[in-house]
Amino acid sequence: MTAAYIALGSNLQDPTAQLQCAFAALNKLPDSRVERTSSIYRSAPAGPVVQPDYLNAVLLLATALAPLRLLDALQQIEQEQGRVHGVRWGPRTLDLDILLYGDQNIDSPRLTVPHPEMQQRNFVLYPLLEISGANLVLPDGTDLDTLVAACPGNTLERAGLQFNND
Ligand code: ATP
Ligand code: CA
Ligand code: CA
Repeated sequence: MTAAYIALGSNLQDPTAQLQCAFAALNKLPDSRVERTSSIYRSAPAGPVVQPDYLNAVLLLATALAPLRLLDALQQIEQEQGRVHGVRWGPRTLDLDILLYGDQNIDSPRLTVPHPEMQQRNFVLYPLLEISGANLVLPDGTDLDTLVAACPGNTLERAGLQFNND
């Protein structure tokens, strides 16, 4: 099993329910198990598009799926939850990104791991820190602690919501 960290985001059609539903779907993937979940955070949208705030979270998936099979599975869950591809960085019912896949570096047309934007994104780094335990080190040797210290958290707040693991 490989430790894969997955980022979840939603800002349309009941984001809390979207995240909870995605959690349940991820927990049902073959050869995979959700090991840890972060709190759910609320973040102001970044980029040029005016849109609602996001709910974000990160979870740790122990999986035997190969990276591209995992990406296939994530994209299928996005589709099942009504993801429509509109403007880039526009609003969405569900976004599932692979942040880390063990200590692998992956650079293929469909998949770049570690996720290339994660170092700048407080809504990824803070929940990742919450669940990753002491001193997670990225494949390039960077400490997560260092990235978090350099990334302001002021556009992020805990939403006061947790995943329900019943
Ligand atoms: P961003 O990547 O900046 O977070 P986004 O999540 O809005 O943007 P999408 O439209 O969801 O981008 O995905 C575009 C493509 O990104 C996907 O079709 C997928 O092939 C590719 N991709 C590359 N690396 C990853 C990754 N680590 N996790 C998920 N998708 C990835
Ligand atoms: Ca994304
Ligand atoms: Ca995505």
